[in-house]
Amino acid sequence: MRFVSYTHDGRPYAGVVDGDHVVPLRGARELGRDTPIEVLATPDLDEASRMPLADVRLRPVVPEPQKIICVGLNYRSHVTETKRELPTYPVLFTKFPSSLIGADDPILLPRESTQVDYEAELAVVIGRTARRVAKEDARDVIAGYTIANDVTMRDYQYKTHQWLQGKAWDGSTPLGPHLITEDEIGDRIDKLSVTLTLNGEVLQSSDTSRLIFDIPTLISTVSEFTTLLPGDVILTGTPGGVGFRRNPPVFLTPGDQVVVSIDGLGELASTVKAEPASTTS
Ligand code: MG
Repeated sequence: MRFVSYTHDGRPYAGVVDGDHVVPLRGARELGRDTPIEVLATPDLDEASRMPLADVRLRPVVPEPQKIICVGLNYRSHVTETKRELPTYPVLFTKFPSSLIGADDPILLPRESTQVDYEAELAVVIGRTARRVAKEDARDVIAGYTIANDVTMRDYQYKTHQWLQGKAWDGSTPLGPHLITEDEIGDRIDKLSVTLTLNGEVLQSSDTSRLIFDIPTLISTVSEFTTLLPGDVILTGTPGGVGFRRNPPVFLTPGDQVVVSIDGLGELASTVKAEPASTTS
């Protein structure tokens, strides 16, 4: 099944996608901590409130995860372009829930950064409370998958050897459009193509068989030191072809259209806009 978090008339809902319609779940205003695997497996649907998807605004597929854990340097082609050593342990960093935007939201270019870059990524959504998960049990804790664009302010990322300020900018990271449940993808998860286009030109193209640390390894590694919770999100890393490492470099500019596509998960399409002058606060 496919699920979304959305607003309609300003009110938040979680819902299941049925063709070009969405049917809200009773008892959950968004996907996340209140929608573990058991809830998604047998959703309590409010059929009377079914509406066209065209009439709703998509939020980040999980709007308020308790943890967003991101993996850097997890495709060989990206490690090579950064001229770094192959990692022997996953390179982990975090974002905040405030970093996320929905599939219907624009990527806003902050006035402080002149080097805003894209990163196509598969995202894993956790569906159970889990600690010290063995690799062979990792699939059992996954609610499903979605698409992320790990938009990065490169000039801020490299101010120090910690990447936080370049990765956790408010309202920077599209996540969605749908949560596709684990059973819909199954064993295909190890061979999904991951593609990013900028204004129609393919700039990233790889597949999940090329992950240095596969998804079971990431879940096992992260759950060794922290408890994974329903709604937690893991961004699995980006392949080569990021803008910062191109010659000449490519950065996002107002009016750009960025599309991340992953087999079976759909497309996450974003319009790039300049941050309005009125958002100072
Ligand atoms: Mg990334």
